[in-house]
Amino acid sequence: MKKWLIIELLFVAILVAPTAYHGRVAANETEDLKTQLGSIRAAMSIYYGDMEGKYPDKLERVIADPKYMPRPPRVFAVYANVPGRGVMRVHTREDMMKIRHFGSVKSADDLGGWGYVNDPKSPEYGLVFINCTHREVRRKMVWKDL
Ligand SMILES: [Zn+2]
Repeated sequence: MKKWLIIELLFVAILVAPTAYHGRVAANETEDLKTQLGSIRAAMSIYYGDMEGKYPDKLERVIADPKYMPRPPRVFAVYANVPGRGVMRVHTREDMMKIRHFGSVKSADDLGGWGYVNDPKSPEYGLVFINCTHREVRRKMVWKDL
C-alpha cells in the first residue's frame, strides 16, 4: 500500500515538474513582452511629440533609431492560453522580430511580431500592438488588444 503511494507521488511529481517550469517561463516571458511593448509605445509618444503630432510611416523609424530606442527592442516568445491545450508557446522569438503595418488592429493576421497602425485616418493611428489573436496567459485577454 505504502509502496504504491510513493510510486504515485513520484509519478505526479514527474508530471507536474515540467508543467510548473513551463508555466514560470511563460509567465516571465509574458511580463517581459508586456514591458517591451510599453517601452516601444513610450518611444512612439516621444517621437510624436518631436514631430508635432505625426507618427512615423514605418515602425522601423522609431525602433531602429537610437534616439528613441537606445537599446533595440528585445524579443520574447508569445505564450497563450489555448482552449483545450492550456498554456503554450504560440509565436517564437523569430516570429516576434517581424514588423507588420496595418490599417487597423482588427486586421491583425496572427503571424506574430509587432503590428503597427500607420494609417493617419484610422482612430488607432500610431498604435503599436502584438500581432497575435490568441488569448494571453493570465488575464485571458487577446494579445493584440493589450
Ligand atoms: Zn497568436
